[in-house]
Amino acid sequence: MITVVGGGLAGSEAAWQAAEQGVPVTLYEMRPARPTAVHKTDRLAELVCSNSFRGDKLDNAVGLLKEEMRRLGSLVMRAAEASRVPAGAALAVDRERFAETITRAVSEHSLITIERQEVVSIPASSERDPVIVATGPLTSDALSADIAALVGERHLYFYDAISPIVLAETIDRSKVFRASRWDRSLGPTCDVRRAERGDGVPAERVRGAGAPGLDNDGQGDYLNCALTREEYERFYDALTTAESATVHDFDKERFFEGCLPIEVMAHRGRDTLRFGPMKPVGLIDPRTGREPYAAVQLRQDNLAGDHFSLVGFQTQIKWSEQARVLRLIPGLEQAEFVRFGMVHRNTYVNGPTVLTETWQVRKRPTLFFAGQMSGVEGYVESSASGLVAGLNAAALARGETVSAPPRTTAIGALAYYVSHADPAHYEPSNITFGIMPPLQPAPRGKKLRNLALSERALADLDAWMRARTLVHQ
Ligand SMILES: Cc1cc2nc3c(=O)[nH]c(=O)nc-3n(C[C@H](O)[C@H](O)[C@H](O)COP(=O)(O)OP(=O)(O)OC[C@H]3O[C@@H](n4cnc5c(N)ncnc54)[C@H](O)[C@@H]3O)c2cc1C
Repeated sequence: MITVVGGGLAGSEAAWQAAEQGVPVTLYEMRPARPTAVHKTDRLAELVCSNSFRGDKLDNAVGLLKEEMRRLGSLVMRAAEASRVPAGAALAVDRERFAETITRAVSEHSLITIERQEVVSIPASSERDPVIVATGPLTSDALSADIAALVGERHLYFYDAISPIVLAETIDRSKVFRASRWDRSLGPTCDVRRAERGDGVPAERVRGAGAPGLDNDGQGDYLNCALTREEYERFYDALTTAESATVHDFDKERFFEGCLPIEVMAHRGRDTLRFGPMKPVGLIDPRTGREPYAAVQLRQDNLAGDHFSLVGFQTQIKWSEQARVLRLIPGLEQAEFVRFGMVHRNTYVNGPTVLTETWQVRKRPTLFFAGQMSGVEGYVESSASGLVAGLNAAALARGETVSAPPRTTAIGALAYYVSHADPAHYEPSNITFGIMPPLQPAPRGKKLRNLALSERALADLDAWMRARTLVHQ
């Protein structure tokens, strides 16, 4: 029998795959008995934020990953198709219907038993009874502590930071001016840079569904709030004395240096913000013809243009305090906040030191980690890791050989990255063509090259699947 801990995207997919291989599964999910800070329902595979599974074309790495998952019989992909909503070239879903479809399928599977309780330590495992831990970025404290004890120093704590968003009609337009730095687009914020590097939050999450991508930036995309020296000093003093929303294990906090909360930056020096998110260079205030002393940039956050986010203003200040402090920015005195800045926990293991490419724990191969916890990033990647972990846990329980799809496939490349990246600088990754072996020779042009990589991947995946089926016979 297989034990799966965590009924999120990875855990639900893993349980389904293992059960489809004929192995009984017990799936533990702590909600609703013990909620997380982010989930709102008791459903399995609840999407905690965006409803997008990102691009769905084969010239796009996440599109390839999804196609591979479809071929492997993914429950998550099946539920996503069944709850699809219009989203251009992306796959977006009706979140309620999606989670409902997964919950029903898993609950009704004759080989899956669901237990609604928190698992406080890693269950015992053996070859016949493997365990998959897929408890996600918000793994409960007790289990986190046990995982830390197992993986030691390599169990990392990491915090994602989100900037506040204001309602456009509440911005005082008489005080702000429209301009892009140096009359051109500023370039990605830290979150978007991380997303595009493939090592952070998905770009959709940063930009908002349907938001104008940075590729579309024209001139004058930003609303700029100019601050005089006196206004900056007042803002600085309020910011550095405001109360933070403290999470009790923040003493172990680790932020990406490029995504520090503004108050953390401010505490480094009085002028640090003027060289960071409040830098005025390249922004000429048309009212004075000069660069202001400091500036805050607001970027349109949705297609309707009624939401603007404060660029680079991720913060963990208490929400009541945030409104007070941010309203000291000229133009935002009456601002209504659609969303406050947030810093949330993201728990994951150091994949390259902890895991093999079959998602097994190196020092305890009867234990698997899957999902965000294993060091991948994003809904699709988490589900993909659960899929392979589920197949391999089933193989182990049946006395068969475990294996990873070839590195030339997106799903295999992801597994290879998680288990072989540089452990000293390990950061969770989205899937990108960059982590797959290049084609030699490669067609000219990005789109053709990507399509050729996808073609090779799908052929290699089909061969791997045929080989696995032969092993089963
Ligand atoms: C605030 C926030 C916003 C995010 N937004 C996005 C986004 O827009 N797009 C995106 O692609 N990714 C986003 N992510 C990342 C996202 O969490 C993952 O992509 C995805 O949910 C990971 O799937 P998972 O199965 O690993 O974890 P989850 O989906 O979180 O599932 C883990 C499950 O384990 C359960 N659990 C935890 N501890 C225990 C325990 N001890 N015992 C039993 N059950 C337990 C939880 O209740 C949960 O149901 C976001 C993450 C956070 C925290």
